[in-house]
Amino acid sequence: MSTRPSSSRDASSYTRQPGATCLGNFLDTCYTGYMTSASKFEFIAGSPALCFVDSHGSRGGGGKERIETPQDLFDWLGSAGLAGECPQPVTQAELGQARNLREAIYRCSLCVIRGQDFAAGDVAMINRAALCPPLRPQLKHNALVHVAGRPVEAALSVLAADALGLFASPLRGRIRQCPQCAMIFVDRSRPGRRRWCSSAQGCGNRDKVRNSRKRRAGEEGRA
Ligand SMILES: [Zn+2]
Repeated sequence: MSTRPSSSRDASSYTRQPGATCLGNFLDTCYTGYMTSASKFEFIAGSPALCFVDSHGSRGGGGKERIETPQDLFDWLGSAGLAGECPQPVTQAELGQARNLREAIYRCSLCVIRGQDFAAGDVAMINRAALCPPLRPQLKHNALVHVAGRPVEAALSVLAADALGLFASPLRGRIRQCPQCAMIFVDRSRPGRRRWCSSAQGCGNRDKVRNSRKRRAGEEGRA
């Protein structure tokens, strides 16, 4: 949990680097693939909402929860460029709210991939989250800061809006699930043939190594 004093609860402020926008930072990391210095979170899903979904990893087997505590959520939002100098601690209730929203986005993503209808309850939850006032920019001392009265709800609102925009756009046809680790991502490549969570390293690379070993074994068998 954050140890910031509760007396500053009503004046939340998210400071950014001069000239940077809150979501701009986040989206930059999404498009290029990014891991925080602590190597705890990855941002390689191509969309803020799907990166949030992937904060629960290894969904294909066992599961790996990376947002276990309110502090984890605070850290994730910070890494995503959605928290910054948030002066109030994240509460246990907000953690539950965030995880519920994340799982609703996950289930809706699976529906898109499988060509199924969304569950009404999931859509209602995402719609509700998107109704909350999002982060708003303010200029302070020639630097852009993003503020909100309720910072966690505001960050979740941004993520919910991103999910809704994705589900309603032509890009919904590019939402994929890695066949190896079950990570959800949106394929933004020009040819649109991305199959793995990461082609440079990770599952796609492991698959290439496996295939090349098989090929070599076949050649040696024939020799
Ligand atoms: Zn994968």
